[in-house]
Amino acid sequence: AIEVRDLHKSFGRNEVLEGVDVQVESGQVVCVIGPSGSGKSTLLRCVNRLEEPTSGRIFVEGVEVTDPDVDLDELRSRIGMVFQQFNLFPHLTVLDNLCIAQTKVRKRSKDEAAEVARANLERVGLADREGAYPAHLSGGQQQRIAIARALSMTPDLMLFDEPTSALDPELVGDVLDVMRDLAAEGMTMMVVTHEMGFAREVGDSLVFMDGGVIVEQGDPAEVLGNPQEERTQAFLSKVL
Ligand code: ATP
Ligand code: MG
Repeated sequence: AIEVRDLHKSFGRNEVLEGVDVQVESGQVVCVIGPSGSGKSTLLRCVNRLEEPTSGRIFVEGVEVTDPDVDLDELRSRIGMVFQQFNLFPHLTVLDNLCIAQTKVRKRSKDEAAEVARANLERVGLADREGAYPAHLSGGQQQRIAIARALSMTPDLMLFDEPTSALDPELVGDVLDVMRDLAAEGMTMMVVTHEMGFAREVGDSLVFMDGGVIVEQGDPAEVLGNPQEERTQAFLSKVL
C-alpha cells in the first residue's frame, strides 16, 4: 500500500505539489491523469524519493519514506519503477539487464538471478529474447523488458510514469496487456498514463491532477463519464 499525506514539493520558488493526498491499497491500481506540468511525475518520484518532498508524509507498506533515516537503497529495491524512456543498459544482454540489480542489490547468486529473470521474461512474453541486446528490440519489447527487470527485484509495488508514451501506436497494446496481467495478479500499482481505456478498465481509482493539486478522484468510469469539476471536464474534452 502507498499513503501520501499532504505532500508539498517546491523547486525553488515554484510550488509544483500543493498538498496532495493519495491512497493506494494493496492490490489496487490507481491511475493518474492530468495536463503537462500538473505534477504527476513529481508525485510519483516523491514516492521513492527520487525527489525530496518539501513537506508531507509518505508511507510504503507501512514504512515512512519521508523519515530522514530511512534506508533509501532498501526502500527503492522494494519499489519497481518504469519510465517513459526504458533506460535499459545498452551494452548488456536482456538477461544481464534483468540480473544485474538482483545480484548487486538483492545479493542473489547468478543462478538464482537468472532463474528469476527467466520467469519474468516468460511473464512479459519475451522468453526467447534473453540473449538479445536492447538495440535489437522494438520499443514495445524494450519496455516489456524494463517491466520484467523491475519485477525481477520482487517489488512490493510498481510505479509507472507514462510507460507507453514513447511508443509507436501499434506497440502500445502489448505493453498495456502486460500491465493488465500484473494488475490481475494483484500487484499494487500507481500509473501515470494518457491511456484512458486502460484507466477505465484496469484502474480501481482515477486521480485527475491540475496545477499541483488533485482536482477530482474516484471510480474511473465515474470520473471519465461524469466529471464533477469544470477543470476535469475541460481536460477530458480535449483528450477523449
Ligand atoms: P508531463 O505530463 O509533461 O510529464 P507532469 O504532470 O509529469 O507533466 P512534472 O514533471 O511533475 O509534471 O512537473 C511539474 C512542474 O514541476 C513543472 O512545472 C516542471 O517544470 C517542474 N519541475 C519538474 N522537475 C523539476 C526540476 N527537477 N527542477 C525544476 N522544476 C521542475
Ligand atoms: Mg511527467
